[in-house]
Amino acid sequence: MTVSVLGLNVQNVTMEQAVNDVYGFFAARESKIVVTPNAEILQMFSQDDRVKQALYAADYVVPDGVGILLAAKRLGRPLKEKVAGVELAEHLLERSAENGNRVYFLGARPGVAAEAKRRLEESMPGLRIVGLRDGYFKPEEEPDIIEEINNLDVDMLFVCLGAPKQELWMAANKSALKVGVMLGLGGSLDIFAQTLSRAPKWMIRCRLEWLYRVWKEPFRLKRIIGLPKFLLSIKK
Ligand code: UDP
Repeated sequence: MTVSVLGLNVQNVTMEQAVNDVYGFFAARESKIVVTPNAEILQMFSQDDRVKQALYAADYVVPDGVGILLAAKRLGRPLKEKVAGVELAEHLLERSAENGNRVYFLGARPGVAAEAKRRLEESMPGLRIVGLRDGYFKPEEEPDIIEEINNLDVDMLFVCLGAPKQELWMAANKSALKVGVMLGLGGSLDIFAQTLSRAPKWMIRCRLEWLYRVWKEPFRLKRIIGLPKFLLSIKK
């Protein structure tokens, strides 16, 4: 069920399978880690040992980006489909709303998580966002944040601190946390709060979401400029 991309075991699943698998992690309370890398993170994985160890610590890796699909294809091991973190999150929230599961949002600028909560609870009746915290805390505040999360009996923790900060944070705190599952979801809270918009459907269909993100956040250009060369260097 997994495909090795440069040594990273990526799930070869449809979105529906991913939702079922991750939802299945809720019950065991093992603080399972789900990561949603794109090509940028794959490059960090291949070049930075700390990121490598953090991604190895993940229990479930889904391909969030056309670059990872391309890399897998070049290796002769094509993946079924892109599993966008923000979409996976939305499906999991819908299911949590139906079943009364408890969710915590960690990350984004002050005010964003609260606005995401407000909008989501409006559109998904029954949704229980039991706690939230912005992503600009000091290291010395972490024990209190973890204690708060552990006291709230959280099924699903969204960790939205950007990459690779969120992957490092989850790996470092797995043993201290008592949640069902935690997911590293980058800018998803900004999308739910509508402080950022997702690419139009036609761009997503044409595999051009990366272009939309660069257009909206030009600072990303510098970060992705080396990616084509990196992806083309991947060979069987
Ligand atoms: N962020 C955060 N704390 C930080 C740095 C970033 O909470 O110390 C948040 C930021 O506000 C934004 C998200 O992380 O909501 C960035 O996610 P995105 O996927 O856009 O960034 P990337 O993963 O591409 O760096």
